[in-house]
This record gives sequence, structure tokens and C-alpha cells, in this order.
Amino acid sequence: MTKKKEPFKPLVEGKVSMFVCGITPYDLSHVGHARAYVAFDVLYRYLKFLGNEVEYVRNFTDIDNKIIKRANEAGKTVESLSSRFINEFSLDMDELQCLPPTREPRVTEHIEHVIELITKIMENGHAYAIEGDVYFSVESFPEYLQLSGRILDQNRAGERVAMDTRKRNPADFALWKSAKEGEPFWESPWGPGRPGWHIECSAMSAHYLGHVFDIHGGGKDLIFPHHENEVAQSRAAYPESEVKCWMHNGFVNKDDQKMSKSENNFFTIRDIISLYHPMALRFFLIHTHYRSDVNHSDKGIENASQRVYYIYQTLYDCEEVLSKYRQEGISIPVPDKKHILVEQHHLHFLEYMSDDRKTTKVLDENC
Ligand SMILES: [Zn+2]
Repeated sequence: MTKKKEPFKPLVEGKVSMFVCGITPYDLSHVGHARAYVAFDVLYRYLKFLGNEVEYVRNFTDIDNKIIKRANEAGKTVESLSSRFINEFSLDMDELQCLPPTREPRVTEHIEHVIELITKIMENGHAYAIEGDVYFSVESFPEYLQLSGRILDQNRAGERVAMDTRKRNPADFALWKSAKEGEPFWESPWGPGRPGWHIECSAMSAHYLGHVFDIHGGGKDLIFPHHENEVAQSRAAYPESEVKCWMHNGFVNKDDQKMSKSENNFFTIRDIISLYHPMALRFFLIHTHYRSDVNHSDKGIENASQRVYYIYQTLYDCEEVLSKYRQEGISIPVPDKKHILVEQHHLHFLEYMSDDRKTTKVLDENC
């Protein structure tokens, strides 16, 4: 929020609360997803390594236009389609050695919390209902766009294309969407419908971590509108709401072009790990600082692959030498000089990792 590097101090010493926006499970996850979740897995592991107890919540947006569309095309229920891709995602995360978060809630299990939150926002005069839809009124919230640093007029231009004339301001966004035919719905005070996209993260983060928590993460494409809207919703309902530290990871580009489905230059995690060791992908991703864009190229991943094999080969060689001594019950003294070298590496590791996670330096110095 301050756009500055600041010392990180958890609200409660030794405990860290972290929320990271999860996937919308309607297809196999791509390298961009791997990028985000590996980046936050590194953070999660490092915070734990430093002795913190970490409450790490990552959600699943298991109700969404894309899921409904895919489910209808495939003749499946929304629930079965999203469950299938949640499962596929978990397999990918295992392959990439991303630890499971402490909690992985699904929005469909938290509709009551979403309704409670929207009710509170309306009571405080920051939202209005029209024909079963509920919109957040951006003009009622002067802090809007503080996170992204945008100005309201910029958004208006972008919104004109699909302008909903019922909205008081084109930038107002949906908290609740009235049910359309053939779509799953839940009963609410505004009629049957389902949550808008942004509200779920405000509802679930508050439910699991409270109104004030330490870290909120996600890809930088989520800064606007998703996280901006989260801030607005949470604070409009409970003014004390605060995220102590926002962290956003960079994109994945392909040969210096942004990787996207429309450009047809994107890869799924499965595409890559069918060709390379999953650790090669992990190495490749963390070799770039988490806030910078990663440039995906065959050469880059090939290099990562070679370095991962070098690590495994070294471990294997060491084990081969050491096992002979172990078998014979001979203790192996560690020479002082070596010990100092290990100590130095360890100190550098701590220094780099504690300075905004300089994983590139860690890997370059040690691997
Ligand atoms: Zn989110």
C-alpha cells in the first residue's frame, strides 16, 4: 500500500496470517498459476523456517461464469467440474512441491459469510440493490483506488464498453448477481443469486484470519480491480479492516511477450512437467525475483533443468561417498574451513531471503 519496502513485523510475534487468492477451477492450471503459488510457497516455507506459526489460507473460486459455461458445454454439474479441476490443481501443486496451505476454502461453502458481509456494507450505506443485483458504490468510499493508484475516470473509459445503465457509477462493481436461468443460485435477502467475484476473498479472509491480518498475496494483475475492490468491501463493512502487507508477483512472459490464452502462447503446468522434472520448473520460476516478470523460454527452462540435475547428482555423489563411512561406523569430522564455508552460505542465505526474498541471489550463489 505504501509502495515501499518496509520491515515486516507480524501482528502477533511468532504467528503470521496470510491470504493468497486461489484459482477458478475450470481448466488445467498454467505456468502463471505455478508462478504465483511457487512464489508464495517459498514465502510460506521461509516464514515457517524462521520459526513462525503460519496460517495460510488460499481459496477456490468454485462458482464463476467460466465454470458455469464449461460445465454446460461438457454436460456436467458446476460442482463436479470444479471439483475435478481442484483435484488436478492439487496434483500439480504436489508435483511442484508446494506445501498445502493450512486452509483451502471454497466460496460455495461460505455463502452465508458473503451474505453477512454484503448486508453490513449495505447497512453502512456503501452498496445498493437493483432488481436482485447488489452493487458497491465506489463514490461512497473515498479511499477507493489507493492500492492501485489509479484515478476513477480511467476506469470509466474502460467500463463504457459493457456499461450497465442501472449502475449509479459505471465503476460500481457487483457484490451479488441475481440468478439467471440454468445457473446455480442461493437464496439471499435480495433474491436468489450468487456472489460477485471480489466479495468472496473479503468474506473468507475475515472469516479465517480476522479483519486485520499480516499478508495478502496474488499476481500483480489482481491489484486492480480484484484487490482494490477487496479493500473497499472489507473497509466499507468494518472500517478497522487492514492488510498489513500486500505482496504481488510478476507475470510470466513467453519470449518477451505476455503469456495468454488469446495469444495462444501459454503452457499448462502439465505441458512443462511432461518434458522436464517438476523441480526444473520450480527452479526456473524462483530464479527470477518474485516481483519481476519471468520470461519463459526453452533455453531458460533447459538451464534450470541442468542445474537441478547438478544438485541431485551432487547429493547422490555425496551420499555414495558418505555411505561407505557410515557402513563401517566411521564418524566423519567436518574440517573447520568447510564449516566456515557452510556458515557463510547460511548467513548469506538468511540475508538474501530476509531482504524481500532475493531467491535469484540464493540460487546463483549456492546452486
Ligand atoms: Zn481474491
